[in-house]
Amino acid sequence: SHTAELIAVGTELLLGNIANTDAQMISEGLSQLGINVYYHTVVGDNPERVRQAMDIARQRADILITTGGLGPTCDDLTKVAVAQAFGRTLVYHEPSAQRIRDRFAAMGRPVTENNFQQAMIPEGATVLDNDWGTAPGVAMEADGIHVLMLPGPPRECEMMFRHRAVPYLKGLSEGVIVSRTVKTFGIGESAAEALLRDLMNSLHNPTLAPYAKPTGTELRVTAHARTEAEALARITPVVDQVKALLGDKVIGVDVSCLEEVCYGLLKERGLTVGTAESCTGGLLAKLLTDLPGSSALFRGGIVSYTNAVKAGVLGVPQTLLDQYGAVSPQVAEAMARGAKAVLGCDIALSTTGVAGPEPDDRGNPIGLVYLGLAWGEQCQVVPLHAGQVDRDRIRRQAAQTALDLLRR
Ligand code: ATP
Ligand code: MG
Repeated sequence: SHTAELIAVGTELLLGNIANTDAQMISEGLSQLGINVYYHTVVGDNPERVRQAMDIARQRADILITTGGLGPTCDDLTKVAVAQAFGRTLVYHEPSAQRIRDRFAAMGRPVTENNFQQAMIPEGATVLDNDWGTAPGVAMEADGIHVLMLPGPPRECEMMFRHRAVPYLKGLSEGVIVSRTVKTFGIGESAAEALLRDLMNSLHNPTLAPYAKPTGTELRVTAHARTEAEALARITPVVDQVKALLGDKVIGVDVSCLEEVCYGLLKERGLTVGTAESCTGGLLAKLLTDLPGSSALFRGGIVSYTNAVKAGVLGVPQTLLDQYGAVSPQVAEAMARGAKAVLGCDIALSTTGVAGPEPDDRGNPIGLVYLGLAWGEQCQVVPLHAGQVDRDRIRRQAAQTALDLLRR
């Protein structure tokens, strides 16, 4: 299989003016293609150091992808450095020059001479047409090494990667690469990895890799095979093993998000939902209305931030509030039951907790949240210990955990 390295060219990256988001985007795309990436290099706009970076990278990888330094200014030196590293000269590419003339004509601006520097490419290389900017990309093969040069501006880089580099890279490998992503909620990357370690270590094709995403840990299973059916035949048993090992933490395979999964379940069962929120301040209602078509499922929500509204609107008994305090399983339950009655929904969710920055007046710690789910005559309350993280994270985690109750 192939190994790729990324070389980002740009002094502004080294100075900390911008983050290397191109590398993040490309790396993610490469992992989806099942291409290994072991190193990222960032190097300034210095021809000698760019050439050195190329010399080192070509010892370790057979695909080198550069970003930046393809433009018309004198610090745009990537092609020169690559040509030097591989002993090629730069030659004039007339079709690229014509594209540059056309582009400027369309903008009604005169072309300056330095713009034609962008039409110089290493001999024997292929131009990757850039429909999203002026600087063409370049693909070159030399001594069994493939070098792809992409422009730096993030949107251009992304389009060029998706529409030019990915098809090129797919053409390099015989057969197909297929991935399936198992999405989870409520389990961290390291906990998932601990449960899956033996399985991960026993696999070569397919491979299994965990990814920490803000919405939850993802496990990607990637196989190489001659045909898609063959790849899936390798992937499916591994996906089943992952599901068996992670149990109800798995929300689905190749699903987009928790919201979508919960929507699907509600729709399938023909149920409506409503919310009573305290510490999440409406975030749960937002999640429940993020997807189109939510009006068929979501009845409405009440942000009962004060005890007065908890008692007055939701009918939470004052005695419960006095005895246990607002942040308590008893109040979470009464809020959910109250919301179900007031909103006339089949299922009601509630949230009440301490989002910080201070513990509450009853000494409940920051990050403690109770989540309630009322359904029929029943009610379930689960505690969440989000820990002493920032207010925003506690609230987001609480809203997502409440939403996750819908899967139970
Ligand atoms: P241009 O034709 O715009 O000059 P270029 O290919 O020469 O494109 P650079 O001049 O190196 O690219 O960078 C252009 C802009 O793209 C930079 O100002 C920077 O904001 C952004 N950029 C460059 N490299 C990266 C990167 N690795 N990640 C994110 N942004 C980048
Ligand atoms: Mg530039």
